[in-house]
Amino acid sequence: MNSFDCNCWYGRPPRPPFRYAATPEQLLAQMDRCGVGAAVTYHINQRFGAPAVYDPVALVELQPHPRLLPVRTLMPPQTGELPPPETLLTELRRDEVRAVRAFPNEHRYRLDGLTFGPHLEMLAAHHIPLMITADCLAIGDLLRDHPKLTVIAMSQGPHSLERYLRPMLDRYPNLILETSGLLVEGLIEEYVSRYGAERLVFGSGYPDNAAGGAWLRLQHAEVSEADRQAIAAGNLHRLLTWDGQPLPGIAPSTCDAAEQSSVVREYVEDGRSHTCPMIDMHGHWANFPGAYLPVADEAKMLAAMDRCGVRTIVCSSHEALFGDFTRGNQIMQAAIHRFTGRILGYWAVNPHYEASWKQAPSDYDRANGFIGFKLLPDYHTYPLDGAAYAAVLAHADAHGLCVMIHTWGGSAYNSPQHVERIAQRYPNARLLMGHAGYGDWITSAALARDFPNIYLDLTAVYAAHDFTMLPAGSGTPSALGSSLHVNGVIERFVDIASPKKILLGTDLPWYSPHYAAGAVLFAHLDDEARHDILHRNAEFLITASRVKTDHRKRSQPGVA
Ligand SMILES: [Zn+2]
Repeated sequence: MNSFDCNCWYGRPPRPPFRYAATPEQLLAQMDRCGVGAAVTYHINQRFGAPAVYDPVALVELQPHPRLLPVRTLMPPQTGELPPPETLLTELRRDEVRAVRAFPNEHRYRLDGLTFGPHLEMLAAHHIPLMITADCLAIGDLLRDHPKLTVIAMSQGPHSLERYLRPMLDRYPNLILETSGLLVEGLIEEYVSRYGAERLVFGSGYPDNAAGGAWLRLQHAEVSEADRQAIAAGNLHRLLTWDGQPLPGIAPSTCDAAEQSSVVREYVEDGRSHTCPMIDMHGHWANFPGAYLPVADEAKMLAAMDRCGVRTIVCSSHEALFGDFTRGNQIMQAAIHRFTGRILGYWAVNPHYEASWKQAPSDYDRANGFIGFKLLPDYHTYPLDGAAYAAVLAHADAHGLCVMIHTWGGSAYNSPQHVERIAQRYPNARLLMGHAGYGDWITSAALARDFPNIYLDLTAVYAAHDFTMLPAGSGTPSALGSSLHVNGVIERFVDIASPKKILLGTDLPWYSPHYAAGAVLFAHLDDEARHDILHRNAEFLITASRVKTDHRKRSQPGVA
């Protein structure tokens, strides 16, 4: 796959991720590692610093590198920060800048016809692509004013925004999506069949998102080779040749990580590995009310697992967490029986119902194929160290069971600090920090280092969660904190907590296993650490929980 990345940056922002490219040379090295041939890129301080300073800086710094193409930042003309349309066009041609990029939140303006009317007419008339980092409702308002604009909507995710986006995609044929935000499994395939491959362009999201995730996702999307190549490079190449000026072709890129590791090579070539399968410790089951999930149907979910080489997934039922806990746990139990060995469960607990939390230990003992409990304090707005969770935690402590806990940095209900308090009280319960205390990375990693019973689950750690991109927030009753860049978190966890304390998770039927695998595989780790994270640590925990199944003589589910 020759890939042409339309969403990556270099430079030193005010709040950097753990790993990033400070210079264009470092960005090129990173692209070589991850199979990216060329990129439309920007200096991060065109976003967070002053564009008046950094637009020219980026032009000068990128000029010696034909694989890296600059962008111009859109600013309001009324403040003297953007020249008249004809001058802008002349400058774009002079500087060989082929796309304009808008950050209306960071630069605090309304991206609409009132502010930019004549400029937007000029961009539309010349088919100059406008790349926008903003929530999709703002993009919809813009397109209502200027329906002929060529708009590339960047980073639309990581949640599924389909219920907002599809009406817009139906109406505006020049609206194109960049892929780094499309973490939800099945979206790329549905877009291609509904709209055609020409509506997607590849973006890595590096280093806002973990390097390699978006690339491996596209590399193994279930689309034709012609469609894959169009999304990877061809569409962007066509969009950037608006002025009739030829643009050199995208050379096949190297993929240094695959040359250095047989595990990476297997995933890159085959999309799966027999020696290093995935075991997913954080899944869910069936539909979710607040988002359209293409693979929520069980046959599609199992097919996605097969395609990505996910041997076993441990799920909690969406119904049990967001609807009726009794019905939901029954649905989970039935699924475990239908797919013995592929699907295991967490018994979901709702702290607001005595019939849930008080009976959970005995319900658990009667059930089959569960390895512990699932707690969702943020969504139930009930603190992890509250009294209603005590019976469940004590039961997990007595029997060495897993407890998969939704955690988030700064939360009033399930912060890393809450986890620390219960880790001391229940030293034999295996506490799996779902989402690894998202955002409060160092505190979470230190807990996993200091407490033998705390583990870090990587679900959602693969991508920036910028809640300003989600029109109705995350779905939690109380707001969660954003993290704008995550690249390097996995490596930092390994350094602080050891690879033995890190677990693969995807929230499937939410996030793509290939996106998750790419993030782990392209992180700067050795193959031993990749084996630990992708399957070995999960095998240990599943075995240690002494999971009961209906078929006692079968080999232990999930054990390689
Ligand atoms: Zn989850």
